[in-house]
Amino acid sequence: MKDSGSSVKQKDLISRRGFLDRMAAVGIGATFASLAGQLPASAEAAATGDPEVSSVRGQVGWAIAGLGDYGTTKILPAFASCKNSKVTGLISGTPDKLQKFGKKYSVAADSRYSYDAIPSLKDNDKISVVYVITPNSTHVDFTVKALEAGKHVLCEKPMANSKAECQRMIDAAKAANRKLMVAYRVHFEPNNLKAKELVTSGEIGKVSYGVSDHHRPLVMNLPRDAWRMSKATAGGGSLVDIGIYSINGLLWLLDDSPVEVFGSTYSPANDPRFKEVECNFTGQMRLASGRVVNFSSGYDATKKRVDIFGTKSVITIDPGTAYEGNKVYTSDNAGKLKPFYEGKSELQFSRQLDHFSQAILANTPIRTPGEMGLRDVAIIEALYESAKTNQWIKL
Ligand code: NDP
Repeated sequence: MKDSGSSVKQKDLISRRGFLDRMAAVGIGATFASLAGQLPASAEAAATGDPEVSSVRGQVGWAIAGLGDYGTTKILPAFASCKNSKVTGLISGTPDKLQKFGKKYSVAADSRYSYDAIPSLKDNDKISVVYVITPNSTHVDFTVKALEAGKHVLCEKPMANSKAECQRMIDAAKAANRKLMVAYRVHFEPNNLKAKELVTSGEIGKVSYGVSDHHRPLVMNLPRDAWRMSKATAGGGSLVDIGIYSINGLLWLLDDSPVEVFGSTYSPANDPRFKEVECNFTGQMRLASGRVVNFSSGYDATKKRVDIFGTKSVITIDPGTAYEGNKVYTSDNAGKLKPFYEGKSELQFSRQLDHFSQAILANTPIRTPGEMGLRDVAIIEALYESAKTNQWIKL
């Protein structure tokens, strides 16, 4: 089955609004549980910002902060496919990049900024959103400054390097009355949405288990990986970088919330990449439903996969969280694996951007809010604590 979009039902939109309003009304502790809402899968699709399904009109101006690998190869090009989002600003510590990408994306010279100049964004009404795509340790500072300048912020994952930093960001958004979203792109990816629909509809039966593995090699001499070897900058190793996809994805697909976690690390001896951060992380989460799920992350092999085990069928998304080429498979009770669905993965980037723009234009809720980023960083902190103490850690 091939598809590129999803249908919208008015009742689902109403239901989604109700869910998020309830979420907004509760405190942070309760938010961990309420992030696992009873959200119909088609309502998930409705909020994707898919130009085919959204009726929101207008355009929102975005400034991209951090002209590195992900920002320049995936995000800037995605604006060409957006309906409600356009690039009107650039923020960088490298003047040559400001000039090069300013020219390429027609960003006026007076809308190109250094990081130090973020506060002066307050005087630029062509920019409504700052998208923070810089190393993890810088997220808190750039996000808070952009919010204080009156801009909405989309921040890359992991939201920050500690719960306290995440909380500062959430508080700054509240104080400035601006929106804060964390860039969990797979919530906008057609194959993940299809898997969510199969789970939510009950089509694969009762789900008692899930497992997800995220691995990719960390490359010593790549600039984008240099800071990932530093604990102070990255916040941790494969767990914070790609294990976070397993954690966030399992909780979303199973519509559940974490109660306690257990984890272990492994790094090959004498590997210069792993002096400060771990290579592999293997973990378990016990969920509010009582189910226990497993995951792993690593910086040596290549795999991005999610399996959800239903009584009638097991869904496999493999790859599950790649930039392109994700695919959904099912396997029946005879264990036979069959290709089931292949949506256009590359839509995830423009959908994510337009979702935030539409939330700003129509003042509608965000699918992946700051509270979700905080929850995931809290889980990560607890997992590292577990790896250190060899104990289950309650959340
Ligand atoms: P890169 O190193 O390629 O880019 C980061 C850019 O941030 C740099 O090029 C630089 O741009 C800027 N920067 C600002 N402060 C610093 C600093 N102290 N040290 C180094 N660079 C700095 O990294 P990525 O693009 O791979 O990752 C950036 C962020 O995006 C991370 O948070 C990462 O987790 C996230 N990410 C998310 C992905 C996803 O699929 N959602 C995929 C890949 C990354 P400039 O010269 O313009 O200042």
